[in-house]
Amino acid sequence: MEEELRALLGDLDALKQRPDPASIDRMRDRVVGMTSLASVAAASTRSKIKDMSAEVVDSNPYSRLMALQRMGIVDNYERIRDYSVAIVGIGGVGSVAAEMLTRCGIGRLLLYDYDTVELANMNRLFFRPDQVGMTKTDAAMQTLSEINPDVLLESYSLNITTVKGFETFLGSLKARSSHGRATGVDLVLSCVDNYEARMVVNQACNELHQTWMESGVSEDAVSGHIQLLIPGETACFACAPPLVVASGVDERTLKRDGVCAASLPTTMGVVAGLLVQNSLKYLLKFGQVSPYLGYNSLKDYFPTMEMRPNPQCSNPACLERQKEYMLSKPARDAEAKAKMEAEASAAIEYPVHIDNEWNISVVDDNDTAPSIILKTAADSLPEGLVRELPHEDSYVEPPAPASSGAIDDDLEELQRQLDALNSS
Ligand SMILES: [Zn+2]
Repeated sequence: MEEELRALLGDLDALKQRPDPASIDRMRDRVVGMTSLASVAAASTRSKIKDMSAEVVDSNPYSRLMALQRMGIVDNYERIRDYSVAIVGIGGVGSVAAEMLTRCGIGRLLLYDYDTVELANMNRLFFRPDQVGMTKTDAAMQTLSEINPDVLLESYSLNITTVKGFETFLGSLKARSSHGRATGVDLVLSCVDNYEARMVVNQACNELHQTWMESGVSEDAVSGHIQLLIPGETACFACAPPLVVASGVDERTLKRDGVCAASLPTTMGVVAGLLVQNSLKYLLKFGQVSPYLGYNSLKDYFPTMEMRPNPQCSNPACLERQKEYMLSKPARDAEAKAKMEAEASAAIEYPVHIDNEWNISVVDDNDTAPSIILKTAADSLPEGLVRELPHEDSYVEPPAPASSGAIDDDLEELQRQLDALNSS
């Protein structure tokens, strides 16, 4: 289409020099053709959908997601529309995470990146060759709004590590805050590729009491990780810095000239999948949210661990959050106790079936000692069957070892025989 439009412009310029009614007619036909092409393209993108429906029809983009409710995995899937997620870094992991959240029908998505799409990015997922030269945020907006127009998209083409960029970043997170919260987003996902940017996200989230998840893929492209960070409650990114950073080395000096990091669409796709899966579990409250999940593709090893905050953390905002978290302990304990009591009272069991045609009764494990069950079951072999292995009760103790005196006698006898053989 773009080439066609350029040709049309050229013809228009030529027309200006030398008017020709026949060529005006030909140009008109071309414009009509392009208009019909554009209308086909517009018709292929769907219109907005007001309410998420669970109706199982081919035209419903949410039927498979709403089925999570029917399967008992999620209590209320439609709540996903109430949530806002900010993704910092729209690269190999961030762009795929953004697409996944868009397809899941997230309410609002904020995208941050300062880079442009390059052909060198084509070994990864999401961006297409025709988007080369566009900013990553614009290209992402283009694709995501076509996939799901229900998602409210905000794009910020900026570098969060600059003073101005950081201010805009903080301002955008704080916008739309309500219900006494410091920010208008529910989760920040860090998908950046350097330590400096991670520390900036860490600083913003510590300042704003903002829960976030960090992700990373190794330079050799074969391992990665995701990590949940709740200011004050878990370790922040400055609590346990990588050794090379803790030793004061500038990470920019670590890059060797002419050597670029490797990347694989597989590892980045896996890490993006783990990140968004953890985000969905966190937002929609199902399953277990991982505090840290590693991925080593060479061994298919997924280590998990938990990291407590460091009381000697170098980040003052982290120390503030740690103090607040400690002070809120009595309130948290009371809340946990109330929740346990509510669950206990809700757990009163009622018979599943009132009729008991087969007289099935449930016996408490404690009423019948396991040894008795074993013995009864073991003693009652059907007629004609014999036991191949001895019964546990018929285990015969091995004979006691001969006394040490007897061993000594045997040894002396053997020694004598040996001496006799040697002397002969
Ligand atoms: Zn910290």
